[in-house]
Amino acid sequence: MAIDDILLPALAERRAQQLYRSRRSVASAQGPELIVDGKSYLAFCSNDYLGFANHPEVIAAFQRAADEYGVGSGASHLVCGHSALHQQLEEALAEFTGRPRALLFSTGYMANLGAITALLGKDDFIFEDKLNHASLLDAGLLSGARFQRFLHNDIDNLESRLARADGGRKLIAVDGVFSMDGDCAPLPELAELAERHDAWLMVDDAHGIGVLGARGAGCAEFFNLSERQLPILMGTLGKAFGTFGAFVAGSEALIETLVQFARSYIYTTALPPAVAAASLKSLQLMQRESWRREHLQQLIQRFRRGAEQIGLQLCASQTAIQPLLIGDAGAALRWSEQLAARGIWISAIRPPTVPANSARLRITLSAAHSEAQIDRLLMALSEVANSL
Ligand SMILES: *Cc1c(COP(=O)(O)O)cnc(C)c1O
Repeated sequence: MAIDDILLPALAERRAQQLYRSRRSVASAQGPELIVDGKSYLAFCSNDYLGFANHPEVIAAFQRAADEYGVGSGASHLVCGHSALHQQLEEALAEFTGRPRALLFSTGYMANLGAITALLGKDDFIFEDKLNHASLLDAGLLSGARFQRFLHNDIDNLESRLARADGGRKLIAVDGVFSMDGDCAPLPELAELAERHDAWLMVDDAHGIGVLGARGAGCAEFFNLSERQLPILMGTLGKAFGTFGAFVAGSEALIETLVQFARSYIYTTALPPAVAAASLKSLQLMQRESWRREHLQQLIQRFRRGAEQIGLQLCASQTAIQPLLIGDAGAALRWSEQLAARGIWISAIRPPTVPANSARLRITLSAAHSEAQIDRLLMALSEVANSL
């Protein structure tokens, strides 16, 4: 059969299940207001939590670096693509996270894939929270290690699995802030469990870095976890940093192991140096302008109070991710369409990104939003709740 004769029915089935994905082309920079098809929307679904994706100083740093270093990095880090700007960013990230070293990856997906496959093989064990990001789950499968998924944030369930694991390396890998729910992993308890069972703890802090902790250094700072307690710390640059890329921070031996063995580090082109320069600028702003985190926290509290007043059920989250659980995928799409008709853009998140019957509006707030914009969101949510 011709390829399309096989693919088209599968696509039709996905559409019938209300799970079909489509993209909209944005004709403006990231920010609270996005232009799509000539219409302006107030958006609450980006991960640009601090408002750096279109910050003038970040753009200027990017442009200056592009003038000096050009656009492409030219090669992988191990060949001749590792620039002085990459090196500076790695050193700054190590200092920021309080780890001896940090290593840049081209994306967060690749950082998780590279780190876990470099550390584990078929004689080892990996323990992952059921709600972990797809990249951690894929990495665990690809590593060939014996793979255990434990119930979400359930320490007892994890402990019984750890107790049965015998021989080999043991790695516990979790999202620091769960990407579709906004709640945090119980990291102090997990660190304690890891120590007791001679396992290593890895945290993917894609949504904590920049947002949590007094200096914005993320979950590790928020929970005050040392490199010994949390030896493998991964963060991404495409979210609160507003740029692109990712890193793993840890000991000298960990980082050298990744340089030698992480295939998604070795066999890929280094990030453009100008992107590294932009990330460095975001990092400086992140540390200097703590008002961004404070403003974001105020918006989160304002949104939660308002949602409660209009009777909306939010997830138990104190982070920038404030999902509104809908359940049915088709219903989530209708909410999203009704909001769009009112000039608000929040895309519906459906399976398999989230478990069956837990489709939701993943509402995200940013320090770039104003209080008035939060109030506009609440007004629109209240109208849609009444109309559906
Ligand atoms: C976004 C995300 C990633 C992937 O990072 P990219 O840099 O976008 O590839 C990994 N883990 C989590 C938890 C994420 O939310």
